[in-house]
Amino acid sequence: MKTVTFPNGTTVPALGMGTWNMGDSDSRRADEIKSIHAGLDAGIRVVDTAEMYGSGRSEKLVGEAIRGRRDDVFLVSKIVPSNASRNGVRRACAASLKRLGTDYLDLYLLHWPGSVPLEETLAGFDDLVDAGMIRSWGVSNFDADGMREVESIPASTPCAANQVLYSLDYRGVEFDLLQRDRDAGIVTMAYSPLGQGGDLLRAPVLRHIAQRHTTSLGPATTAQIALAWVLRQENVLAIPKAGSPRHQHENLAATEITLTRDDLAQIDEAIAPPRRKEPLAMI
Ligand code: NDP
Repeated sequence: MKTVTFPNGTTVPALGMGTWNMGDSDSRRADEIKSIHAGLDAGIRVVDTAEMYGSGRSEKLVGEAIRGRRDDVFLVSKIVPSNASRNGVRRACAASLKRLGTDYLDLYLLHWPGSVPLEETLAGFDDLVDAGMIRSWGVSNFDADGMREVESIPASTPCAANQVLYSLDYRGVEFDLLQRDRDAGIVTMAYSPLGQGGDLLRAPVLRHIAQRHTTSLGPATTAQIALAWVLRQENVLAIPKAGSPRHQHENLAATEITLTRDDLAQIDEAIAPPRRKEPLAMI
C-alpha cells in the first residue's frame, strides 16, 4: 500500500480510518468496532478521532476497539480551539487519553483555528511532547496563511500534519495548499474523502469510471473510485469512515485501483479543478 512519512520519520499506509459519529448509536456499535478491527487486521494504522466527536463517545469506542493492540495503531485525536490554552491543552489531552485507554497519542491536532493565540497552543503541545503524552502535533482546517503562521512560531518539534476537507466535492486545496504542505514536509490528512457518503457517490462520472475497474472484491464501486482519486496524490493520507467491515474492506480494496490518464481527464471534465484561490472549505 502507498505510504506517507511524517517529519519524525514515522511511515504509515496512506489509507487510515475516520471515526466521526462512531459510538453514537448502540445498534451500530458492534459493527463499528468490527470495522476498526478489520482495518487494523489488514494493515491500516491511522485511526482518527477527536474529543468533540459525540462529546467523547468516539474516543471511548476507539479505546475499546484498540484495547490490547495499541502498538498496531497510529492514534490521532484533536482538541477543540476553546480548550487550547497552554494549561487547557494538558487537561484536554489527559481526558482524551483516559477515554482512549492509552498513555500517549501519536498525533494531536488543533481541530480548527480559534481565538487562543497559536503561540500558547503550540507551547502546550511542546509540553505534551516533553511529558511523553504525544509524539507529534499538527493542525486541522488551516489554510496557507494559517500554515505560514504555524511555521513562524518556534516549537521544539515541527508541525506534522494539516487535516483538511479534500474530496471530489471539494478540490480547492489543489490550487496551492496541497503542494505547499508537501513542500514543507507536512502530511495532508484528507477528511470526508467519500463526500460523507452523499451525492458524490451517485455522480455519473464515477459510475462510468467504476465500470472500467475491478478489485479483488469484484467490480469497482463509485466510493472506491472517489477514494482512489484522493489517494493518487503524494503525501496525502485519506481517512474515510467505514461503519462496517464490508465498507472497510471495500475501502482497502480501493488501494488496488490506479486511475488512468483517461479516467483523470474525464473526472476533470465533469468536476473541474480549481482555477483560482478559494477559501478553505470545512465541514
Ligand atoms: P466520509 O467521506 O469518510 O464518508 C463516510 C460515509 O461514507 C458514511 O456514511 C459511510 O457509511 C460511507 N462509506 C464508507 N465507506 C463506504 C464505501 N466503501 N461505500 C459506500 N459508502 C461508504 O465522511 P466523514 O465526514 O466521516 O470523514 C471521514 C473522517 O474524517 C471522519 O470520520 C473524521 O474522523 C474526519 N473528519 C475530520 C474533520 C475535521 O474538521 N478535522 C471534519 C470531518 C471529518 P457507513 O458508516 O455505513 O460505513
